Parts: sequence; structure tokens; C-alpha cells
Amino acid sequence: MNEWEKNEGEPAATPAGRLRASCEDCFGLCCTALPFSASADFAATKQAGTPCGHLREDYRCGVHGKLREIGYRGCTVYDCFGAGQRISAETYKGRSWRDEPGLAGDMFEAFHAMRLLHELLWYLGDALARSEAAPFRAEIEQSIATAEAMASLPAERLLAADTATLRMDANKLLTQCSEHIRAAFVRKTRRAVGGNKRKPIGPRADLMGANLKNMDLRGVNLRGAYLIAADLSGADLRLADLIGADLRDADLSGANLSDCLFLTQFQVNSAKGDAKTLLPRRLERPPYWS
Ligand code: SF4
Repeated sequence: MNEWEKNEGEPAATPAGRLRASCEDCFGLCCTALPFSASADFAATKQAGTPCGHLREDYRCGVHGKLREIGYRGCTVYDCFGAGQRISAETYKGRSWRDEPGLAGDMFEAFHAMRLLHELLWYLGDALARSEAAPFRAEIEQSIATAEAMASLPAERLLAADTATLRMDANKLLTQCSEHIRAAFVRKTRRAVGGNKRKPIGPRADLMGANLKNMDLRGVNLRGAYLIAADLSGADLRLADLIGADLRDADLSGANLSDCLFLTQFQVNSAKGDAKTLLPRRLERPPYWS
């Protein structure tokens, strides 16, 4: 049982297990709805709304066991936050775009909307699980309830729902939570955070390829930072806010992310790490990490 699942039965966070992809319960929505282009991440090009050539009739991937070997690294990185199975099993109640092609357009749009809601529920669940965020608990719970209510709507109403305003308001709330939690940490440890003039480290900072090896980044705001291929090996990122940070090919070997804020499986999957990388309990170590 993880820290979110203990909330089951309470009007609180969506259980983390519900926000994890369960491909066997999905009609291959990410493999069909999403486009990709031939690149280092994909061996071929595919238009949005068309099934990947490797998608089998039973909606399973025909090359699942060798995705990285044959050039589909992007598929091993993607995470739908459990939106695929919810759209397939709940919103559309087992009706598939393949059996009923007329459903396809709306079903794929609904999948996009659901993924955004589930991603939001992931962040809100993270915030709610932190005792330091107690002053915001009522607002977080309200935001979760609103997002859950939207996610439970029938497809036509889900597509018409104002998810943008919900996400904007929730983002403000998550920012406040993050500031509150990190400020408390700074007060407690009496330390300065934020890097130096030569290499500013902060929100949306351009840190592509930066050498941040063994750096103490506890409590740093790295929202939306570009950390592509950065060397974060051995870095301490506890209580660092990583929402939206681009960690593609960042080296997290031996890094401590055990208590960082708002980290997702998608970000972890896109980075490099090893057996010594410490992750939050709710996230899984990618099998391809050495
Ligand atoms: S290669 Fe497999 S996982 Fe990737 S899009 Fe195609 S069917 Fe889906």
C-alpha cells in the first residue's frame, strides 16, 4: 500500500493505482489517437487517429518486448496516467473505436481531455499527501472533487467541460502549496537555494546539458526547467519542485528524488537512472535503467 492508497474510502485523493496506465484494459488509445514522427524516439511516422502498424487486433502491442531495440523508445516513455482504461471501460463502457468507427473522433478527443484531468489528479494527490500542505487541504480536496466529477462525465459532456479553467485554478493552488512547502524547508534548514549568477537555477531555467552533478538542489523551484541531458547524478532533489521539468536523457544516477514535488512517471521514464536513484514510493523504476 502506498501513501495515496491509504486515503481510499475518504473523500480525498484519487488512489495512485487508478492514475497508472493499465494497457490490458485499454483499446490501444495512445497507440491510435496520438501522432509520432520518425526520430530518435520512433522508428516510423504515424498520423493522429490512425492505429500504429504494430497494434494487434486485441489492442496489444505486437513488439512490446523489444520496443527500445527496434527504435520505439518514445513508447516506453509515454504515460497516460490511467486515462486510457478509464475512457475505454468507464466513459465508453467497453465500446471500441475499432468496432464502431463512428466513435473514434470523440473517443480520441475524450482521451486527451481525460489524460489532462488524470495528470492534474496526480499532482493534487501528491500535494494532499504532504502534511506540510495542511493549510491548503480543503482547497486541494475541492479541486480533486471537481476534477473527478469532470472525469466521470459522459463523453459529450466531458468534451464540453471547462477543463482549462480548472487546470489554471489548480495550477495556482499547486504553486502556492509548493512555495509554502519549500519556504518551510528553507526556514527549517536556514539555507539559501537558487544556484548562482553564473548558472541561474530556477523555474524554466535553461539547464540543458548542465553539470549539476552531486549538487544540493533541495527545495529548489525547477518548474518547467529544461534539464534535457543534464548531469544530475548524485544530486539531492528532495523537495525540489519538478512540475513540468523536461528530464529527457537527464542522468539521475544515484540522485535522491525521494521526496521531490510533482514528479511523474513520464518524467522518470524519459530520464536515465540506476539502481541507486531514489524515487518517490508512488513511482516505478523503469526496467531499462541499469
Ligand atoms: S509500437 Fe507498440 S506501443 Fe508503440 S505505438 Fe505501436 S503498438 Fe503502441
